[in-house]
Amino acid sequence: MEEIADRLKTVQDKIAAAESARPPANQEEVTLVAISKTHPVDVIQSAIDAGCRAFGENRVQEAGQKWPELKAKTSDVTLHLIGPLQSNKVKEAVALFDVIETVDRKKIAAALAREMEKQDKALRLYVQVNIGMEGQKSGIAPDETVAFVAHCRDDLNLEIEGLMCIPPAGEDPVPYFQNLAKLADEAGVKCRSMGMSGDYELAIANGATSVRVGSAIFGHRAYK
Ligand SMILES: *Cc1c(COP(=O)(O)O)cnc(C)c1O
Repeated sequence: MEEIADRLKTVQDKIAAAESARPPANQEEVTLVAISKTHPVDVIQSAIDAGCRAFGENRVQEAGQKWPELKAKTSDVTLHLIGPLQSNKVKEAVALFDVIETVDRKKIAAALAREMEKQDKALRLYVQVNIGMEGQKSGIAPDETVAFVAHCRDDLNLEIEGLMCIPPAGEDPVPYFQNLAKLADEAGVKCRSMGMSGDYELAIANGATSVRVGSAIFGHRAYK
């Protein structure tokens, strides 16, 4: 488990270096969200012990099995949902998560608005953008993003904190990062969640305000 602390430190150092390499006007602090999907509670606990406080999971059910006990021990942990949200999981997601990064359609936005009111809980919300317009990927189309953010804000009274994207695998991610940053400006939101283990430094150079890093901290994932 010492390994996790070492890898976390390496990632934190690289983030700090990428932050300070940006122009002085853009040196806002970047949040590291450690993506702990598939990893067990004891492994995640070692990252918490090493000082990490923001985590991401991609499945509501898996997070529900791991996080109540972890959060009971460390109350200032922030938990992000980074995978698709289904309507029948909205209630559980609102109860468990602090940030939802995958708001991607009107139905889910409306369900979140209702459920947050019911539970009297204000989650931080990101709209996921299908930045490469890939058929199989979730997310709102780039050219519908500004109108969708306005719909959330004006019709549902939901504050959208930022945009999130996953660029197409195997392509240069930089043009996609730049496009997400531009869309965030146009939509009037301040945060940009982009960059994973393979490209988080590039994402920071191109305007990320948070990065989602899994395998560089926790090692490879063994899917069941
Ligand atoms: C799994 C996942 C990550 C982390 O990927 P790594 O390459 O392991 O860093 C980031 N974002 C999303 C949406 C993911 O599903």
